Amino acid sequence: MTRLLLHACCAPCSLEPTRLLMEEGFEPTICWTNPNIQPAEEHDRRLCELRRWCALEGIPLIEAAEDYARWERGVAPIGALDRRRRCRACYALRLAEACRVAEREGFTHIATTLAVSPYQLFDTCNEVLERLASAHGLTSVIRDFRPWYPEATRRSRELGMYRQNYCGCRFSAAEAALDRARLRDERKAACARKKES
Ligand code: SF4
Repeated sequence: MTRLLLHACCAPCSLEPTRLLMEEGFEPTICWTNPNIQPAEEHDRRLCELRRWCALEGIPLIEAAEDYARWERGVAPIGALDRRRRCRACYALRLAEACRVAEREGFTHIATTLAVSPYQLFDTCNEVLERLASAHGLTSVIRDFRPWYPEATRRSRELGMYRQNYCGCRFSAAEAALDRARLRDERKAACARKKES
């Protein structure tokens, strides 16, 4: 078995990558470092759920350092207008810490659950992981877990896991709320058109 540090953003997104990586012969240790998640209650709720699941499955969990002030200085000023650049900086901050932990703890391989969700920027996330892993002398294990997202949704519901409805930062909370409102409006308009015809 090859020891691998798996940076995790939440419990539901960890389900399928952990299973699939184990099937490949990796022995994952989960690493939590997500200073992007706001507000603090939400951050703690996601972390508690991850702790609960790791304990249940007997998967080791490392809770790494989280520099909230650095996120505010380095990511927040990019703001809502350039999501790609903002998320790139956010991925980099979290994955850099995970790489530091992996190097310090003697791991040779690193992966992340960040791009499990189809709402994330898959290529950007993987580019960032590859660059940082190589700078730390680690092998990045890049897999496309997106086809298993519906299965992760199903399993996390079955397990009664807490499931958030936005990525993590305050910008993503506002963006997700806008998306939901737009979808509601579209559905209402479609219903109205149906009634008229
Ligand atoms: S949307 Fe998600 S990845 Fe992007 S900046 Fe916000 S928390 Fe980070």
